[in-house]
Amino acid sequence: MSTIFSKIINKEIPADIVFESESILAFRDINPKAPTHILIIPKIEIAKVTDIKGSEHAELLGQMYDAANKIAENEGIAEDGFRLVINCGNNGGQEVYHLHMHLLGGRQMNWPPG
Ligand code: 5GP
Repeated sequence: MSTIFSKIINKEIPADIVFESESILAFRDINPKAPTHILIIPKIEIAKVTDIKGSEHAELLGQMYDAANKIAENEGIAEDGFRLVINCGNNGGQEVYHLHMHLLGGRQMNWPPG
């Protein structure tokens, strides 16, 4: 089922896009939890981590990590470090059921997460 992120991919609703390729889109989170908070998503609809198939999606996942590294570099947070988070399902705290990686940086992260 499509989510609000499909509308962002299709440019039906605006977003502050920081990276785009044929298969990946990245844009600033509307409710940032850190000075840098960017969502990195595949353009194809994968609802959640448990829908990932290594045999099918390995290249796409690699591209998401490449995008994260490139964006972190552009944002000036690569050297100090950052956090990548993927929430999965109810207990994971997932709200939007279109796979997305949170790139969080620009401050010290705490552990354990809430
Ligand atoms: P989740 O809780 O599913 O891991 O994260 C969903 C994220 O999407 C949240 O951090 C939320 O602020 C963000 N978000 C939800 N709707 C929109 C939107 O319309 N635009 C943008 N830029 N971010 C959104």
